[in-house]
Amino acid sequence: MPSATHHLAAPSPAIGSQPRLADLATGRSLRLLHVDDDSDLVLLVDRLLSARLPRGSVIDPVANLSHALSRLTTGRYDAILLELSLPDSDGLSTVEAVRSHEADTPIVVLTGREDAELAGNAIRSGATDVLFKSRLSAPLLDATLCSALLDGRRSRGGAETVKDRRESPHYTVTRPSIVIPMLADFRPDTGLVATTIDISLTGAGLLVEGCAELTWDRLVLGIERADGVYTYATAMVRHHGVPAAGWNLGVSFVAAKDDPLSAARLAPRFDPETCQMTAGLPEPVLVEWAQLGVLQPRLIDRVRSCPRCSGLPTFRDACRQCGSVKAEAVQYIHHFACAHVAPADHFDGAGHLACPKCRARNLIVGADFEYLSGPICCRDCNWSGTQLASVGECLKCGHRFVGSEATERDIIHFHVERLDPLAFIEAD
Ligand SMILES: [Zn+2]
Ligand SMILES: [Zn+2]
Ligand SMILES: [Zn+2]
Repeated sequence: MPSATHHLAAPSPAIGSQPRLADLATGRSLRLLHVDDDSDLVLLVDRLLSARLPRGSVIDPVANLSHALSRLTTGRYDAILLELSLPDSDGLSTVEAVRSHEADTPIVVLTGREDAELAGNAIRSGATDVLFKSRLSAPLLDATLCSALLDGRRSRGGAETVKDRRESPHYTVTRPSIVIPMLADFRPDTGLVATTIDISLTGAGLLVEGCAELTWDRLVLGIERADGVYTYATAMVRHHGVPAAGWNLGVSFVAAKDDPLSAARLAPRFDPETCQMTAGLPEPVLVEWAQLGVLQPRLIDRVRSCPRCSGLPTFRDACRQCGSVKAEAVQYIHHFACAHVAPADHFDGAGHLACPKCRARNLIVGADFEYLSGPICCRDCNWSGTQLASVGECLKCGHRFVGSEATERDIIHFHVERLDPLAFIEAD
């Protein structure tokens, strides 16, 4: 294996084991605004969260939008829990009103209208996450708030993701897509049907169906282009929420240097350890991705390799019998006048050429004689013949063999049709 693979960081621990509110507090109490005119639900949320929030935390309840906005003007809140249907506002306009007032504060929508499309639209309108009231539980509220707070902290802080976010606006793009979790050993897990909510140059928002539990955070995202071709990018899960129909994921594309499926890792290279042409991932892994259609195998070359260990050999013309390179053709002289043919060294007179048969002297090439190429003789094993053989020596195991014994191996390049966010942004 090329060492490149070993430099890949293992995926961070599964989302399921993400930090909880209690771990996140850093010694600070939290202040939440809960906007809902259903006093029973306000009590329920208060009870569910009381044991989970850091000591000293406060949940301020308000029953309508105008009270909420005036509270937000006077106080600073860490997060807002928001019902969409209020006495003075309804639906997406509720989210929009709060978002335009509060640019950064995480908004978690708690709604009784359990509609996946509405959930997606709420996120597009600025909600950080959407929870359905019938599914409320302490762990779910805890995990969702925690992830929303972390996300909000990132967008307020100077972290890199924020800068990217600001410099790269999110475009609303709804396209069929597929999410294929990437396991720790880089193999694919079962693909999940998804739809994009938005796409930016650095990532995408997704609704993912049919996934009971998020046990992974690295994935390959495939989005269908207008021409029907799926294009793929490796991405990491940044935040998630749970509307009824599936998971709502925010993912960011990984840089080529961290991408197990980067062009550099997919290109077959000479690996000095095995002395074979290999890609930066084990072949069985590449084949699994190819079976899913993410990678396309393409024959790019064919090489002759060692019949014993498949290592790449070097080749030279050498003796067919012992493989020695000390095998040369003997030069002969043909004397025209007497028709004598003998090895050239037999014609050596004292400083001039003389025919050993007819004793003619001072022979001139072309006029009196010609050189002929005689049989090939090996100085190591005395083999004699007319043709040298192409002889290979394996770089890995040193095995020396006649070229015709070499095994031919196809060099396959696994190609991936790469996702270009611009293609979707411009097309939309
Ligand atoms: Zn020989
Ligand atoms: Zn002669
Ligand atoms: Zn070998």
